[in-house]
Amino acid sequence: MLIILTGLPGTGKSTFSKKLSKKLWEKGIDNIILGTDLIREQFPQWSNEQEEFIKNSTDYLIKNALKDYTVIVDDTNYYNSKRRDLINIAKENNKNHIMIYLKAPLDTILKRNIQRGAKIPNEVIIDMFNKFDEPGTKYSWDKPDITIDTTKEINYNKIVEKILEIKHNDNKPFKKEKKEITEKENIIYNIDKITRQIMGEYIKTHKLDKENIKKISELRKNYIKSIKNKIDLDNYNINIVEKEFKKILNNYETL
Ligand code: ADP
Ligand code: MG
Repeated sequence: MLIILTGLPGTGKSTFSKKLSKKLWEKGIDNIILGTDLIREQFPQWSNEQEEFIKNSTDYLIKNALKDYTVIVDDTNYYNSKRRDLINIAKENNKNHIMIYLKAPLDTILKRNIQRGAKIPNEVIIDMFNKFDEPGTKYSWDKPDITIDTTKEINYNKIVEKILEIKHNDNKPFKKEKKEITEKENIIYNIDKITRQIMGEYIKTHKLDKENIKKISELRKNYIKSIKNKIDLDNYNINIVEKEFKKILNNYETL
């Protein structure tokens, strides 16, 4: 199976990975820890041009290892797109996955960062902290199975139990539900959310009654249906959707 860790630098992912790896091994689960740092740290000097190679090589290693081992992905996995890609790697290989989110307050991770020599400047970590979308806040598939506050004691037995539960299903066929979370699904999710928000505001400001609410709910559904097949992934812009839907509502004449 694929164990996906996510969390800001200094939340304790690498420390956690090593302990978890041992505990799993004791339970008879052959596993390996992989992550971009493994490759990144082999360069004498980091540069941004290396990142694509680092990412591709790590993905390759993960895919290859998944054939024989449970893989623990020790990485920040900062963006939900990265987490989605990893989930898709698991699905493509018919493996189950579990997402574990490690967190700690900002002052704690800054303190830990300084203690280990601040290879990443504190300002960068502050910025990452402020811009971080907590896993699961935008998409339901992105909800962590386990969230760990690393300022508290970690109950490894409970975590291993949960992993074993999910791992158990690795060999059960789940081809039917094997479904990629595509860029398009993400977009549709966003469109659904934004139009729902706009509709909510519209209902409030226009103090609509039941009948009118029903009508504009239909308008929204039809609008989403109409654009579902027209989404151009390369030129998609949520702002246009927002404008279009607002225009539809503004043209609506209450009953
Ligand atoms: P990450 O891989 O998320 O960047 P590390 O595991 O390297 O984080 O941990 C960063 C620092 O925090 C290390 O100095 C480590 O000893 C310390 N640390 C990690 N986990 C904990 C914990 N649960 N409690 C206290 N300190 C921790
Ligand atoms: Mg680490």
